[in-house]
Amino acid sequence: MRVDVAELKLDAGSHKTVPVEVAVEPVEIGGESVKFDRPFKGEAEIWNAGDRLLVRATLSGEAQLPCSRCLTTFSLPLETSFEEEFIEGKPGPDDDEAETGRTVTYYTGDAIDLSETLRDNVLLELPMQPLCREDCQGICPTCGTNRNEGACSCVETTSVDPRFAALEKLLRKPDSNS
Ligand SMILES: [Zn+2]
Ligand SMILES: [Zn+2]
Repeated sequence: MRVDVAELKLDAGSHKTVPVEVAVEPVEIGGESVKFDRPFKGEAEIWNAGDRLLVRATLSGEAQLPCSRCLTTFSLPLETSFEEEFIEGKPGPDDDEAETGRTVTYYTGDAIDLSETLRDNVLLELPMQPLCREDCQGICPTCGTNRNEGACSCVETTSVDPRFAALEKLLRKPDSNS
């Protein structure tokens, strides 16, 4: 999505606010596919900071992705806000991003393209271990039943933590209690 900055560029200190919208293509994360059914929407404020343009944007939408515990696909609301600098021209030999520690995008002409930076920032919000809900019960390792949908008959035997089982054994020994 391109934003016209022709007028903004003429006047240092001026700014404008534009609505932004970006569609995000499906991605694979850890072998699981993540989809985005609707475009992300939000707002970007663009400032003319003299030798550069400063973009501040907020975006929200949702991802459809599998829960890391029960593998059920669910919708996760995502929101991101970020800042990025746009500098007119081409990167010079001194403009090493790693050294400046800042995210700088170069542009030419009278428009800046926000699509890539919007997409990148959406993807940064994806959790490493998404959960369909905080207390997701996961899947029974024995029979594969989704425990959120009800207990299975093998829950009793598999739910004992081996550490507690060892402790229980220890406490039962008569001489360990003296
Ligand atoms: Zn889950
Ligand atoms: Zn089971």
